[in-house]
Amino acid sequence: MAGIYLHIPFCVKKCDYCDFTSFAKSGEMEGYVDALLLEIGLTARTGEYPASFHTVFFGGGTPSLLSGEQMQRIMAALRQHFSIRENAECSMECNPGTATKESLAAYHTAGINRLSIGLQSSHDALLKGVGRIHTYEQFLKTLQWAREAGFSNINADVMHGLPEQTMEQYLETLKNVCDLNLQHISSYALTLEEHTPLYVRIKSGEARVPDEDYVADMQDAGIDYLESRGYHRYEISNFAREGCECRHNLTYWQNGEYLGLGLAAHSAVRQKVWTRYANTASLEEYLRLLRRGRLPKSEIIRLQSGEEMFESIMLGLRLTRGIDRAAFSARFGLDVVEAFPRAVESLRKRGWVVESEGFLALNRRGLDLQNEALGFFL
Ligand code: SF4
Repeated sequence: MAGIYLHIPFCVKKCDYCDFTSFAKSGEMEGYVDALLLEIGLTARTGEYPASFHTVFFGGGTPSLLSGEQMQRIMAALRQHFSIRENAECSMECNPGTATKESLAAYHTAGINRLSIGLQSSHDALLKGVGRIHTYEQFLKTLQWAREAGFSNINADVMHGLPEQTMEQYLETLKNVCDLNLQHISSYALTLEEHTPLYVRIKSGEARVPDEDYVADMQDAGIDYLESRGYHRYEISNFAREGCECRHNLTYWQNGEYLGLGLAAHSAVRQKVWTRYANTASLEEYLRLLRRGRLPKSEIIRLQSGEEMFESIMLGLRLTRGIDRAAFSARFGLDVVEAFPRAVESLRKRGWVVESEGFLALNRRGLDLQNEALGFFL
């Protein structure tokens, strides 16, 4: 499987915890879309990308700041220049308070068939506390419009460990989302990134987040709750109804090929060796290079086989199913247990590993301590 990722780096305003490449400059969207179209055409001319794509994913930023017409132009350009499979999963991230009934209908007409809506919490005070621009009511409205537009594959992002958030509030959010019968739920712990406004407020004592143990308890309770409601955990933070896993993200975790387009986007493609590219993270440079007919690449890394192998392990062990041993052997010429006998033995001794038919996976305890588990493979 191979995917295309497109980065839309604009937001209405920055959330207080966010350190993604995004800016509150949505007035520059039209110029950005023009640059993205140039990048699609220039990339196609290189011929250095997979023969066909199974998924397309618009992330951000806030892709739902694109107008329906802008989305249609981008999707048409992708189809013109690349081979996008007929049954491709085409996802976009969407923030409540930005999409309208009309824009959602236009996205669907353009070929978007999966929506990932950023809810984070159904408690408005918690949303406000981290600078989110929307309310729970707006999320519900967005969901209603999305369904009316024809979307039947929808994810909601939720967070735990927010300032002043209680276990009860987190579980109530999960209950609310489950009651809406979505196909997919991503549930992440808040990460405190240095230099963000929230980080500064926490360091100065102006705001308080739950302590580590409480956050771990929230996560445990969340996993139990989601599983009790029929959402199986297939990755550390991702839960889906059977058959509704995000195919695009599965490509990352299976260390598959993807083409990244847009500001600060990353790509991983097989050329003579496994190769990673990164686009520039400077918006000015991105626009300038493309207007001059040049690709905005800032970094190219060609990986040695050992590095590629470690990446496959690092990514594959995020999945509850774990590493597909047959796929690993086909790619690297030896079984993962033969390649890393001491690491696997250390996992066995700690009781963190599950070795099922054809797979090597971490169990729940191992997933909780994933960084430590990966250390054995280094
Ligand atoms: S909407 Fe998403 S990308 Fe934009 S500022 Fe908030 S967290 Fe960051």
